[in-house]
Amino acid sequence: MSKIHVLTPEVSNKIAAGEVVENPASVVKELIENAVDAGATSITAEIKNGGVSYIRITDNGFGMSAEDAKTAFTRHATSKISTAEDLEEIATLGFRGEALASIAAVSNIALMTKSAEGEGVALTLSGGNITDEQAAGCPNGTTVAVRDLFFNTPARMKFLKTDKTETARVTDIVERLILGNPRIALKYITDGKERLFYGGGGDLKACVYSVYGRDYANGVLPLSRGQNNVAVSGFAGKAELARGNRSFQSIFLNGRYVKNRALTYAAEAAYNHTLMSGKFPFFVLHLDVPRGSVDVNVHPTKQEVKFANERAVCDEVYWAVKSALQSGADTLRREIQTPAKHGFSVPSLAEPHRQLPLTASGGAVQLPVFAALAEEGEANPDVSEPTAQTSAPQDFSRGYRVAGQFFDTYIAVETGEKIILIDQHAAHERMIFERLVKAANEHTVAAQTLLSPAAVTLSPKEYGVLRENLEVFAELGFEIEEFGNNSILVRQTPEAVGEEGLKALIEELIEKIGKPGAAMTERRAAMLESVSCKAAVKGGSRLHESEITALIDDVLSTDGVSTCPHGRPLMVDLTKRELEKRFKRIV
Ligand code: ADP
Ligand code: MG
Repeated sequence: MSKIHVLTPEVSNKIAAGEVVENPASVVKELIENAVDAGATSITAEIKNGGVSYIRITDNGFGMSAEDAKTAFTRHATSKISTAEDLEEIATLGFRGEALASIAAVSNIALMTKSAEGEGVALTLSGGNITDEQAAGCPNGTTVAVRDLFFNTPARMKFLKTDKTETARVTDIVERLILGNPRIALKYITDGKERLFYGGGGDLKACVYSVYGRDYANGVLPLSRGQNNVAVSGFAGKAELARGNRSFQSIFLNGRYVKNRALTYAAEAAYNHTLMSGKFPFFVLHLDVPRGSVDVNVHPTKQEVKFANERAVCDEVYWAVKSALQSGADTLRREIQTPAKHGFSVPSLAEPHRQLPLTASGGAVQLPVFAALAEEGEANPDVSEPTAQTSAPQDFSRGYRVAGQFFDTYIAVETGEKIILIDQHAAHERMIFERLVKAANEHTVAAQTLLSPAAVTLSPKEYGVLRENLEVFAELGFEIEEFGNNSILVRQTPEAVGEEGLKALIEELIEKIGKPGAAMTERRAAMLESVSCKAAVKGGSRLHESEITALIDDVLSTDGVSTCPHGRPLMVDLTKRELEKRFKRIV
């Protein structure tokens, strides 16, 4: 345990100063951070009335001597740094020696503390002045109880919100502290009720379970990467865990919860084209970088940080999340036990859709076994009696069995212990998009020459935008000639795009490329989305069985995708267990 001293003005003047006690949540944050810095392995946080009337933090850390306990409430008193150089390599969450002094100044405090070496002491303070000091028999560690926050500063009291809102703010802080310190057990009590409990032990997934519950713990993918002096670990949520705001995202840098736009965007970029717009992914990221390469002394609440090499750290974050998402998709495929890749191509719209020979009745695709029976001249078996299959064994040689196409839109696949339903348009669109992105980057988009060029008349504004971006259109496989009078001639289109609906597509692409304020990469991606959507087989179209298997094989052999480019899911599944439950075979 190190001794507390008051920093010299020379050092304290170099500290990013500012008010750290804004509301009960900031008090809870400072007190729990002190407990973490004191090496606690177990912390209890309790609040009443949103923390306004009562906050108590108990830890089993290394405590303080009676003398240190008194010094701790002096401004700029800290045991964590001594010299200005120490500011370059901060290893603790606190370092300014301001929190206890600031909290004490605006509340009534009772502190009990005991170090392993010394006697316990109990101090009472009001408005920053010590009003009582007594020897106390207490376990090693520290308990700080803060009552009547802002009792002597009514102006600040006015800025407090309802107890409910203040409680929510404290809860948010406590949740981040759990996620940021997996080694430490934490119990959180609000108005007498236990609200959160995490048992400690260093298991970040168990932290996710304690804070967000089972669905989140089951829906996260582990990530870990360590290169270029940056270690990234943690969990990225699958796309379906995305929320309408960023509150389910946490980034910790060397154990400190930070808000950093560049890091957030880097993590979100790994989800590009897998989330609906307005949805934000779930993640908990722990970054570790050499202490000297990050400055935490730039903001009073220490949530903002400055990096020596922000770009490199962002790259590592991007790749850590991206590979986690890809391996998540791989897991799904392993479950499906895909056989060796077949190298099927995506069926293109240019290829005329043959009617499935098995669907003369116009209903869903018949199960292959019934078709086989029909071919043998038997009457169509009663569908309600599937045991009539004198059950040639089902063909699972591809690792799955196509159970049929429903509503001319969804493909049902039986595999292992589940049925997967695939949205044919979303899946096909995604496959085409993946291929187009790659081809566009490599300038190898396959194109087709139209039998006769298509003339399209545009508005003067559209015509102007198109003329400025003819090169981008060429990259996508369009050959377009200016025809005068705001008209163009389209001689060639991307392979899967036919002449039908071409004018509408061109107009849509012009709108995407001309979108004001958007980055070029974003505009190009939006164009690729439009082309993919146009080229993909529509819902409501009957598919040939070979087209169905080609599409499924393709979906199963493509890495890291579970949604269409607009973020709609490609597939949903129904497990045998779920069916058994619904039919009450099991309860
Ligand atoms: P800082 O954390 O920036 O040093 P604080 O005002 O929060 O400043 O705390 C002042 C000092 O009091 C700390 O440096 C530490 O030595 C001591 N201290 C505060 N809380 C605890 C605690 N829970 N256990 C042990 N020591 C503590
Ligand atoms: Mg502190």
